[in-house]
Amino acid sequence: MVAMRAHEAKRHDLVVIGAGPGGYVAAIRAAQLGLDVACIEKEPRLGGTCLRIGCIPSKALLESSELFYETVHALAGHGIVAKDVQLDLKAMLARKDGVVDALTKGIAGLFKKHKVTRYEGLGRLAGGTQVEVVDAQGQPSARIEAQHVLIATGSTSAAPKGIEFDGDRVGTSTEALSWPTVPQHLVVIGAGAIGLELGSVWRRLGAQVTVLEYLDRILPANDAEIAKEAQKILAKQGLEFRLGAKVTLARKNQDGALVEIEGQEPLRCDRVLVSVGRKPHTDGLGLDKVGIALDARGRITVDAHFATSAKGIYAIGDVIPGPMLAHKAEEEGVACVERIVTGYGHVNYDTIPNVVYTHPEVAGVGKTEEELVAAGIPYRKGSFPFLANGRAKALGATEGKVKILAHKDTDRILGVHIVGARAGDLIAEAVAAMEFGASSEDLARTCHAHPTLAEAVKEAALAVDGRALHI
Ligand SMILES: Cc1cc2nc3c(=O)[nH]c(=O)nc-3n(C[C@H](O)[C@H](O)[C@H](O)COP(=O)(O)OP(=O)(O)OC[C@H]3O[C@@H](n4cnc5c(N)ncnc54)[C@H](O)[C@@H]3O)c2cc1C
Repeated sequence: MVAMRAHEAKRHDLVVIGAGPGGYVAAIRAAQLGLDVACIEKEPRLGGTCLRIGCIPSKALLESSELFYETVHALAGHGIVAKDVQLDLKAMLARKDGVVDALTKGIAGLFKKHKVTRYEGLGRLAGGTQVEVVDAQGQPSARIEAQHVLIATGSTSAAPKGIEFDGDRVGTSTEALSWPTVPQHLVVIGAGAIGLELGSVWRRLGAQVTVLEYLDRILPANDAEIAKEAQKILAKQGLEFRLGAKVTLARKNQDGALVEIEGQEPLRCDRVLVSVGRKPHTDGLGLDKVGIALDARGRITVDAHFATSAKGIYAIGDVIPGPMLAHKAEEEGVACVERIVTGYGHVNYDTIPNVVYTHPEVAGVGKTEEELVAAGIPYRKGSFPFLANGRAKALGATEGKVKILAHKDTDRILGVHIVGARAGDLIAEAVAAMEFGASSEDLARTCHAHPTLAEAVKEAALAVDGRALHI
C-alpha cells in the first residue's frame, strides 16, 4: 500500500478507481498486458460489493442454510437419522466472514503478484486524467497522474421513498447478511434475485417470510414462465408472496418494524429487508470536474468501448448501464483494458447469464420468450422437466425444467432458461453454445454424460424439434 504526501504526484499508465470485480479484474488484466497499474479503493478490503457484502457472503449463507434445512427436512428421506439438530447462527455467520476474509486477502495477493499498486482512500477526479486520493479524514493523501483512468465504483442499495433505514430493523442486504438472530417474521420488499436469495436464507433458518413485490410477477428480468414456476416452488418452501403490493412506508417501531402497503392492512414484523434494486455509485468522485454527465438513472454513459465523454477516462461495471452482475463487470473490465492496450476488446451482451441462487436455482441467458414475442422473432420452443431426468431423481431434486428457444427458420439458439437444481452451472453450456452460434440441433447431437442433470439440457434441445427421448 502506498502512503505519501499529496504534493508528490505519482505516475501510472492506468489508475483504476474501485476494486470490485470490475476494477480489480481490469487492474490485473492491464498489468498482464504490461501497464503500470494503480488501484484506489476506499474500503480496507478489496473485492468490492461482490466479495465483501454481495455475491460471496450471500452464497456462503445460502450454502449453510441449505445444509441446515436439508439436515432437518430431507436427510430422513435418505435413511439418515439426525437427532437434536441445532442451529449455531454465530458459527454460521463466522464461517461466512471467514470465506469473505480469505477471498478479499486473495485479491490483495493477486495485486502483489501482478505488481498493481494499491492506494487506500477515496479516488477523486482532479481534472484531465489526474486523480486525487482522499483519506478517511477527507484529506488528500496522494495525487496520481495517469495516462488512462478507469472508473469502476459500482453501486449501492437503492433507497425508495417512504423507507426509513435504521441499520437494524429496516435494512438492506448488507445488514441481512449479518443479523445476529433469526427474525420471527421477515418482510422482504422486492422479489428480485437478492430478495429471494436472502429471503430463502432466513426462511430455511426458521423465519416466517413475506415477500412484497410491486409488479405482478417475481424476477422481472427472467423468462416469465420460468419465474412463475420458481415462484410456485419457493411458495411451497414457505415464502409468502404478495404481488402488486405497493409499499408506502417501512420503519422501525417499538416491537420491531411496520410496513404500510397501499390498500392493504399494514404488516408488523421484526425485520425488513429492502431489496428493490441498486443505484450507481458516483458520490465524491468529482465527475463535474471533468464534465462527465450521468443519464436519468444516475449511470455514467459510455461508448461501445467504455470511453466516457472525458478524454482518457473510461467506466465499467455497475456504474454504467447494463445488468448489475459481477461477471458482466469483469468482462467489461477485461474488454476495456484490452482495447486500450491492443486496440481490440469486446463484450457480447447477448450471452451474459444471470443466476438466482435459491433452491432450486434459476438461470437464464439470451432472449426471454416475452422478448421474442415483442420483437416479432419467430421461434420454436423445447422444454424438459427434471422430473424425467435420472440424476435429478437420484438427487431428490426433480422440481423445475429447462426451456430452450431457437429461431424458427435457422434453429439458432436465442435463449435458454432453467429453474432446477444447479441451474447456475448448467447454464454455462448454453452460454458456450450461444457464443459459438450453435443451433438447438448442435446441442441435441452433443453427447452428454449419463446420468447428469445436463442431460435435461440435451433433452430440451431435442424437444425443440419434438423428439425428446425420455418424455
Ligand atoms: C447481496 C448481493 C448479492 C449479489 N449476488 C450476486 C451474484 O450472485 N452474482 C452476480 O453476478 N452479482 C451479484 N451481485 C451484484 C454484484 O455484487 C455487482 O454486480 C458487482 O459487485 C459489481 O461490480 P463492480 O466492480 O462494478 O462494483 P462493486 O463491486 O460495487 O465495487 C466498487 C468498488 O468501488 C469502491 N469505490 C466506490 N467509489 C469509490 C471511490 N470514489 N474511490 C475509491 N473506491 C471507490 C467501492 O468501495 C467498491 O469496493 C450481488 C449484489 C448484492 C448486494
